[in-house]
Amino acid sequence: MSTPSLRIDEIPTDLFIGGAWRASRSGKRIDVFDPATEQRLGSVADATTEDAILAVDAAAKAAPGWASTAPRKRSEILRRCFELITRDAEQLAELISLENGKALADARGEVAYAAEFFRWFAEEAVRINGEISVAPSGAARTIVQYQPVGIALLITPWNFPAAMATRKIGPALAAGCTCILKPATETPLTAYAIARLLAEAGVPDGVVNVLTTSTAGKISNVILDDRRVRKLSFTGSTEVGRVLLRKAADSVINCSMELGGNAPFIVFDDADMDAAVDGAMIAKMRNGGEACTAANRFYVQRGALPEFSERLATRIGALVTDDGLKPGTQCGPLVNRAAVEKVASLVDDARSKGARVLTGGKVLDRKGYFYLPTVLAGVTPNADLLGEEIFGPVAPIVAFDTEDEAVKLANATEYGLVAYIYTRDFARGLRVSERVESGMIALNRGLVSDPAAPFGGVKQSGLGREGAHHGLLEFMEAKYISTNW
Ligand code: NAP
Repeated sequence: MSTPSLRIDEIPTDLFIGGAWRASRSGKRIDVFDPATEQRLGSVADATTEDAILAVDAAAKAAPGWASTAPRKRSEILRRCFELITRDAEQLAELISLENGKALADARGEVAYAAEFFRWFAEEAVRINGEISVAPSGAARTIVQYQPVGIALLITPWNFPAAMATRKIGPALAAGCTCILKPATETPLTAYAIARLLAEAGVPDGVVNVLTTSTAGKISNVILDDRRVRKLSFTGSTEVGRVLLRKAADSVINCSMELGGNAPFIVFDDADMDAAVDGAMIAKMRNGGEACTAANRFYVQRGALPEFSERLATRIGALVTDDGLKPGTQCGPLVNRAAVEKVASLVDDARSKGARVLTGGKVLDRKGYFYLPTVLAGVTPNADLLGEEIFGPVAPIVAFDTEDEAVKLANATEYGLVAYIYTRDFARGLRVSERVESGMIALNRGLVSDPAAPFGGVKQSGLGREGAHHGLLEFMEAKYISTNW
């Protein structure tokens, strides 16, 4: 590997359209802040609707050439994207930590995960196979060919600023689609740093365009109204996902939606307690709890309750909470003040309804958006944090008695992204996995994210899958040719 090239102060901050860095038509800028210090890090261009049309023009111009580029060539460019992100991993991790706040160790994990999407989809780009069969009547042959769906609008959240972008760009490019990425306003610098690496890797001009904007609704409306755009891939809250689905309906646009979660973490009496506590630390504390996959509700069988609660509180209470970039930090700040206020009010609500604080339970008295990692015991069913995403370092624990009760509690949510189950009885683990309404199950594991596996939710957690071969097919249309010979 060659020497790293990324310097934080050299990251481009203008819009990336048609392979060129351009100021916004209005000349306006958006400030970007460090959540650990509340200091301004810099600013990025604030795209207007005119800029949005220019981005669609650029994506449309590049589309025929990219769709007809040989799969092997697309694959090699994607592989090069993997190599360049890996080369610059440390600098990217620092950048993520700086603008998102997460601990550097989490940011390093994210960069490795983000890079893997390019490696995986480099491999998938040359595995786009069709199908051929004889019609049941014998009257015709059926040929099914997979073609790129077309120009894609990719909208991503701030909690994984690198990985949520590469999880969409990787399959879009492997499939032969061109795209426009709209990253979250809280974390735009990572998206531009990645865009620069993609250009260096040989992604042709206009194949990937990046727009930052303070008017996400307006910009996405203009793009989705443009009939040249054929795909929306969104990761973010269920609330915004619903707005976008309604909008996409006007143009009958193909949609993949990765939305919110409310993951149950179920611990049975017979669980391997070391594994359950280790898994809980990952499932709850990765990214400081700011993950759609974060364990949001801990359901623990009565016999395991005292040991699990005590051990989890000890581990969570010992976490070092500080500036994400500081060596030794295990939990960084939350992304902004609103996030801290939300977490604090959810904890206060649970306490007012009877929950006990085993550790944490307060905002840190210092600059930056810090909330102390917290464990709550005896959480009552009417506590608001059991019904909505906490998106912070808070673990609420609830007791249960029977397997049926655990399943009922786990399913008592409109979400269905992921569920964690700990038991030594494998048959019970699989039985409960089948009964829990969730797109993904972590059985005796604290992590499901894997570029080679289909990631996605059911119920209000979304539509479609990212990663695996499934993620590639989200960017392709099946064309059926009926013929005979
Ligand atoms: P968000 O508020 O829904 O924002 C997500 C993205 O949508 C941002 O780029 C945002 O832009 C944009 N946006 C907001 N309003 C919009 C509108 N009216 N039209 C078009 N775009 C709009 O979510 P977030 O707070 O960034 O992220 C946290 C959420 O993402 C959580 O609910 C989490 O569970 C979910 N998430 C899900 C997954 C998954 O795979 N299922 C993964 C990660 C996160 P601005 O930043 O400019 O507002």
